Amino acid sequence: MSAIIEEIRSPEVTVSIEVFPPKSENGAARLLEETARIQEGVRVAFTSVTYGAGGSTRDGTLNLVIELAKRNPGRVVAHLTCVGSNEEALSRLLSAYHESGMTDIMALRGDIPEGMTREEAVSGGFRYAADLVRWLREAGGVSSIGVAGYPEGHPETPDRAKDLDHFVAKAGAGADYAATQFFFENSDYFRFVVEAAARGLQIPVAPGVLPVRDIDQVVRFAGMCGAAVPERVLSALEPYRGDPEGFKEKSADLAAEQISGLIEAGVRHFHIYSLNKSDIVLGIADRLGWRR
Ligand code: FAD
Repeated sequence: MSAIIEEIRSPEVTVSIEVFPPKSENGAARLLEETARIQEGVRVAFTSVTYGAGGSTRDGTLNLVIELAKRNPGRVVAHLTCVGSNEEALSRLLSAYHESGMTDIMALRGDIPEGMTREEAVSGGFRYAADLVRWLREAGGVSSIGVAGYPEGHPETPDRAKDLDHFVAKAGAGADYAATQFFFENSDYFRFVVEAAARGLQIPVAPGVLPVRDIDQVVRFAGMCGAAVPERVLSALEPYRGDPEGFKEKSADLAAEQISGLIEAGVRHFHIYSLNKSDIVLGIADRLGWRR
């Protein structure tokens, strides 16, 4: 079994971090330092690297994934998006991952890029993430497949019941686990997993936790992905707008409180959106006794 699946199913608390490929070489070097810093301080089950998000390039992502995989064999998950792509392009990328020993994939549809019509986006034959999951299973050579879940629903499908059906279908297509979009109210996550289980979902669903780095940025992110930022979170952080160190401390407090609530309810794996920085992740680790 893939080390990734073992970690997610472990009865111990385990943590993965998500990073995104920076656009410059300097940014990539800084990211490698930041991930190394996190790994020195906390036991990281795996690092997942986004693809195509924020305009990252195929080559930039590939180089970063390969470098991280060299440093952390078997502990890197490469995200793969199918929007605007076709079988040939996906096969080439998958082969490049396989050649560098990368067999753990997070399968996503991806957001439709600006300027591309919906029809253009799906003309390569992949309409939804479930199609990509099925294709990966058929292609073979993949040790684990993760998919995305949305505790507050995905913005393109306002009918919550349908969105849940689509989510559960990704497990039916062969996904091994899911990681969620960030959320701040644990009740949203609990409701989501209960409703998915009622539809037959049997794969683990790792909650995605976003330590807030900037109030305006989190409000913008949340707006784009259909998540809510509660007044409680905004008013806790607002007094620290002009105080970067105080802000990070408060942000780590909030994320640690959220994770504690999830641990109390029995959750064991956490997917932390690091935003490529170690400081708040390590602050959370301090608060939860995760420090090595
Ligand atoms: P899908 O599961 O295909 O769902 C997309 C929409 O289509 C949903 O509204 C769903 O309800 C609907 N749908 C699904 N199946 C059907 C069907 N059969 N009939 C009708 N409607 C259907 N984006 C990136 O670009 N790169 C990344 O690396 C990346 N990583 C992510 C990691 C995580 C953990 C998360 C939570 C999101 C990530 N995203 C990433 C964002 C993601 O690509 C977007 O949210 C995208 O809009 C949806 O992707 P999906 O894989 O969830 O799509």
